[in-house]
Parts: sequence; C-alpha cells; structure tokens
Amino acid sequence: MSFPTTSVRACAKINFFLGVGAARADGFHELTTVFQSLSNHNVVRLSPASGPAQLGEYVASVSASGLAARSVPLDASNLVVAAASRYLAEVAANHPEIQLPVLDIHIHKGIPTAGGMAGGSADAAAVLHALSDYAPLPRQRVLEIAAELGSDVPFSLVGGTQLGTGRGERLVPMLSRGTYHLALGIQKQGLKTPEVFAKLDEMRAAGKTAEPNTDTSALATALVSGKPAAVAAEMHNDLQPAALSLMPALRATLAAGKDAGALCGIVSGSGPTTAFLCDSADAAEVVAEDLRDSGTVFDAFAVHTVPQGIGSIDT
Ligand code: ATP
Repeated sequence: MSFPTTSVRACAKINFFLGVGAARADGFHELTTVFQSLSNHNVVRLSPASGPAQLGEYVASVSASGLAARSVPLDASNLVVAAASRYLAEVAANHPEIQLPVLDIHIHKGIPTAGGMAGGSADAAAVLHALSDYAPLPRQRVLEIAAELGSDVPFSLVGGTQLGTGRGERLVPMLSRGTYHLALGIQKQGLKTPEVFAKLDEMRAAGKTAEPNTDTSALATALVSGKPAAVAAEMHNDLQPAALSLMPALRATLAAGKDAGALCGIVSGSGPTTAFLCDSADAAEVVAEDLRDSGTVFDAFAVHTVPQGIGSIDT
C-alpha cells in the first residue's frame, strides 16, 4: 500500500495553570500544569513526495501558509521533520515489510509561532497521528517518541483537559464541564521559551518573584463547576512575571483585556500570547475586538475550549 495523502487538524493549547518548580539536573524545570486544547488549530497535510528526500531520509519538503507563516522554518529544523524521521525510523526497525514513504509536508498555521501555544508541537503531533494511521506502533511508544520531540508534544497528541507533570509530558485526564470562551491577544514578536525560563530562574535567585505554586486543586474544582468566573479566579502562570519582564508592553495588553470585560487575563505558557477568559462567546468577541482597537496587540480573536486536540480531516 502506498501512503495516502492525509490531513490532520492539531489544536493550540493554553495552560489554565502553570506551576514551575526548580530547574532539574537535565536543565528542564519540574512543572505542574493544567493543559487545555483550544479551537484554533493548524492543519498539517502529508503527501507522497514529488521530489527526492532532501530533509533527512523521509521528507522531501516542508511548506507553510496561514498565520505568520513567514516565521515558520522550512528546513530540517522544523519539528515535523524530526517527527517524521523518528517515527518512520522506528517503523523501519520493527516492520521492514512496510513500504515507507518520502513526504511533502504542508503546514497551514492557525496557531501563532513562538506564542506559547505549542504551535510547533501541534505540527509534530499531527505528523505522528497521520503516520500512526498508516503504520501503527504501540500507543505507549508513540507517546515516548512524542516526549522525545518536545515537552508539549504528548499533550498535543492527547488533548482535552489534562494535568501535566514532569516536563509536562506525564499526563492525567482532568474533568471539565461545558465549553469556556476566551479571547487571545497575539503579538508580532515571539518569546523564546528557554529565555523565559532562564529569566524566571534569574528573578527567583534575586528574590524578585514568589515561590512556585503547584496546587491545582481549586482549579480542578472550578473546572467541574462549569462556571467561567470560578475558573477565572484560579487561573495562574508562574512564568508570567518573567514574560512580563522580557516584554513589559504585555502589561498594557492585560489591562486592555480586563477593561474590555474579561473575567481574567494571563500570559499563555511562556508567552507572549495573552489569554482572556470570558463569560460567553459574545463577550469573547467583544474583548477580541477591543483588544484589536487598543493598539496593544498585533491581532486578537475569540476561541473556545475543545475536548479533543487532534483529528484526521476527511479530504
Ligand atoms: P511552546 O508553547 O510549545 O513552548 P511555542 O508555541 O512558544 O512553543 P512554537 O510555535 O512551537 O513556539 O515555535 C518555537 C520555535 O520553534 C519557532 O521560533 C521556530 O523557530 C521553531 N519551529 C520548529 N518547528 C516549527 C513549526 N512546525 N512551527 C513553528 N515553529 C517551529
């Protein structure tokens, strides 16, 4: 069987809660986080290559379109190349009878790049999802490959509402009732995740920020209530002071979202995207519009929570 052209939708994430512990010996920080899939997503299309494998053994080309597509790397540093290469190498080692494809990979972006919303991780997860339909590996092995690719890739593959520990790769499902509506504030410039963590370490060493907050129990109760105001009261991000220190203009964005009627605004993950929880879909549209008018964002749009992070698209 030859590889059929496959398109996969992979959703953005926010961290309703992000507690950051001390740096570990391997350089990663111990996290306690509540991940949530959102409706904005990338679509990744894998098709049999029209030219030779130029990006490793299994990928001929990477192309991109959509939101800030110019900031997406189109060479072997794109996470989709590592995802395809690792997955197919494992299939080659274990199933020599399967004919392996060389791929053209196209990414249509709906998730901002370097925005703290796991955009690259979503693309990598989409590749793993598409390839595991064609040449299945045990689910546990797929999740291990995902974790090797990046701390957020396992969540991008599993999706929904999950408690993440370790680097964020150890996941346990959480209960959440209903749909929550948010406005997202997008910045033109990204923030580099390692630099935000390094800034937090520096601020902690200088005694400038609070101790890690790793207690998600109040948020867990709030998510089950289905009440946006209850969830808003428990949203938290330990990385926020570091992101604000690196990009002070985000303070004005947070203030603009609150003025527009959001229940709560936080920096999403390592930023600089800001996420504003709202009472309703209409309220989220109003906050997005006011954010655009405020001049404090490059763009803003309304999104909502979704129960699944990834899925094949019928073409
Ligand atoms: P996270 O929330 O997982 O920390 P992020 O959303 O802040 O990540 P990404 O959009 O994943 O950041 O991009 C971070 C960097 O990764 C980019 O600046 C880019 O150089 C590189 N990159 C590699 N592959 C991709 C991809 N498929 N899409 C976007 N950026 C990618």
